[in-house]
Amino acid sequence: MGTDRKSTRFMGDYRQFCAMPVNDRFDTSGRGPYHARAMGNPLRDRRTAVDLASDEQVVEIAEKISSFRNLTEIVEADLAALGAGKVAGEWRDREVRGELQFGFAALDRSIPIVSGSASVDVDAVCQRCLEPFRLGLSIEPRLLLVKGQEAVQEFDDFEVWELEESTLRVQDIVEELLIMALPLSARHDTMAECKAFATDDGNAPKMKRPFAALGSQMQQFEKDPD
Ligand SMILES: [Zn+2]
Repeated sequence: MGTDRKSTRFMGDYRQFCAMPVNDRFDTSGRGPYHARAMGNPLRDRRTAVDLASDEQVVEIAEKISSFRNLTEIVEADLAALGAGKVAGEWRDREVRGELQFGFAALDRSIPIVSGSASVDVDAVCQRCLEPFRLGLSIEPRLLLVKGQEAVQEFDDFEVWELEESTLRVQDIVEELLIMALPLSARHDTMAECKAFATDDGNAPKMKRPFAALGSQMQQFEKDPD
């Protein structure tokens, strides 16, 4: 330890830091496991929808896929179709990111609502070429949080979300919405990315495409099977 001013000042700060009550040493306004206030983790705490709405609670989401267990299991089951070693495990560490805000649908404050957005990239198997690819999922919920089968007035752009229990976990809603956003049949977005349309040299066909018309018809059919 030198005696220059910089390190002296540091030692002073450090002694002050040590003299502080333990609870004041860390910034308790953030999220995380050190956070010991009554309202711990807004993403994981169980609260009633009315409480969340009354607080106009904003929930920031920056959470690894692996903490969304049902979603992780579904993605794992999809990827299990691939041979070992085809997919690295790090997709579980990618984060679901977004923000949700609670409030009430109308001035009478009778119906709690939640809106916002969240997104994540999972890995998936393309059903056309059976190769893994990165599948973007995004949700932009606008939900009326309704108990059981309670009948509610309709509000523009809001969907009814029936709560099964008296309290909810924001993380569970986000997870359910992401699972609902999974496509029934995942595919590469474009023919250029998809190996099913690749030529022998590994490149997507660009010049000679005798079946191009058929391909676009098929794409049309897939978009709109009726
Ligand atoms: Zn593909």
